[in-house]
Amino acid sequence: MFDAPEPGREPARARLPSREDALVRAADLARRVSALLGRPVHLRLTDNRATLVSYRRLPEGVRLRLHHLFLDAPDTVVRALALYVSGDTAAREVLEAFSHAHHGQVRRERRPGAPLRTRGRCFDLKAVHARLDAAYFDGRVHAVEVGWARRPARRTRRTIHLGGYDARLREVRVHPALDRPTVPAFVVDFIVFHALLHADLAATDAGPDAHDAAGRCAAEHTPAFVEREAAFPLREAAWRWLLENLSSLRRG
Ligand SMILES: [Zn+2]
Repeated sequence: MFDAPEPGREPARARLPSREDALVRAADLARRVSALLGRPVHLRLTDNRATLVSYRRLPEGVRLRLHHLFLDAPDTVVRALALYVSGDTAAREVLEAFSHAHHGQVRRERRPGAPLRTRGRCFDLKAVHARLDAAYFDGRVHAVEVGWARRPARRTRRTIHLGGYDARLREVRVHPALDRPTVPAFVVDFIVFHALLHADLAATDAGPDAHDAAGRCAAEHTPAFVEREAAFPLREAAWRWLLENLSSLRRG
């Protein structure tokens, strides 16, 4: 939610798989590379941005570490992976071209399955989540994961995404700029509440919700959303505080 306008926004990224889906697809990818190599492949997914592909040839097979973006790899890229692992350095170009095309994913997304950090220096989001779930949602958003987002790369700091519900991973991520003693607790509560409300409505509503899959809110929320949001007593005060402090939050 609460994005400053950003000129030249990045194109839509590929959807991230759920954890279970990622494991199934990783096993499938390992099978495909293994069939091409004619050797067993032990595959491990990473979110290491510096080294997207690394491998070790062992007597019992190949140990392959891959960035999770390769879960979406088409056949040509899978073939290039197999060639690269067999020592064909020319295949590297294909892998580089593919990872270049998925650059946004490499920079911004976590490996599916890595847990979110909940305990900050000032705020414990696990406690915030439990309290809000009990007070406003009758336990319905219990299964949603809530945690601190990783600090984005400095050059993306022109816009600040304070918090949102990521429907792909069913998690709420809160910007670490809010984990400071100068930020009132009710503001953190409000950001988490707002995102949990998106999660609750996404689960109960058939219709499209006013945010995209990565949890960025549209300019307008639905009337149903606004009505439910009014249940949060300090909503106006939280918005006011956020507007007044946005530039200092953005500076990090
Ligand atoms: Zn929203």
